[in-house]
Amino acid sequence: MPASPSDKSVYRFAPSPNGLLHLGHALSALINHDMAAANGGRFLLRIEDIDLTRCTPEFEAAIYRDLAWLGLGWEEPVRRQSEHFDAYHAALDRLTDMELVYPAFLTRGEVKAKVATYEASGKSWPRDPDGSPLYPGDDRHRGEAERRRLIADGVRHAFRLDMKKALDLIAAPLSWTETGDGDRGEILADPSVWGDVVLSRSDAPSSYHLSVTVDDAAQGITHVVRGLDLFEATAVHRLLQDLLGLPQPIYHHHRLVLGADGRKLSKSEGSTGLASLRDQGLGLSDIRRLLGL
Ligand code: GLU
Repeated sequence: MPASPSDKSVYRFAPSPNGLLHLGHALSALINHDMAAANGGRFLLRIEDIDLTRCTPEFEAAIYRDLAWLGLGWEEPVRRQSEHFDAYHAALDRLTDMELVYPAFLTRGEVKAKVATYEASGKSWPRDPDGSPLYPGDDRHRGEAERRRLIADGVRHAFRLDMKKALDLIAAPLSWTETGDGDRGEILADPSVWGDVVLSRSDAPSSYHLSVTVDDAAQGITHVVRGLDLFEATAVHRLLQDLLGLPQPIYHHHRLVLGADGRKLSKSEGSTGLASLRDQGLGLSDIRRLLGL
């Protein structure tokens, strides 16, 4: 019997249109596409454009152009996150109803100053796996009346997950199945290392963690294939999946393409940009060779 679409594995490439794609994105897109082809699976494209200030239609158009140049085809319609803020909002409401969300009023500058004062005494403030200081507890402990007053006064705020309360609700230890280029097998997830993560901001109605979790479920993604730089973030995604009752995909975090300085490529590095490589006359086979595919 032929496999029905619901039996098929589903892969996705999920770039943000806040810059031009480079070789690192090409590696991710091609690995996703190749794995989908090898498994008779589907390949979806998702445009992660929740950051309305940095994402532009020009960068989005460039993504379609670059991926077509790489010989990739994807299913239509493409899911654009900016068209699904209601879905992220519903997920936030659900977490709020579970009393796991609080308004966070500290600005970046205030957090920085607090951390600097604390560290001036010789102690170190805890950092997340990306090196950012964990969010201080001030807002978590604020009373309801004060929260309401600050909001009524128009103080800008984000919404954050109360990590400790969230973990208290989880019955069994969280883990995920990993098949990628780093650690493999059943990986124990420890979302507490991220502290009280942001779920929505005053200038972006959803956070990366919330929208990626909601979308992977909404699109029926069975295999999340992405760079090793997002390996640690998976712990947060597993937690949100459990809290929201969403299915868990298999994860495959692949090697990163590094620049001449040994660091991860950035979107501002023109020399490895796909458009610039195309202008230099390179073709798909050159790109695959450059990437060791
Ligand atoms: N939008 C993210 C990025 O461009 C990728 C998110 C993901 O694959 O989970 O880095």
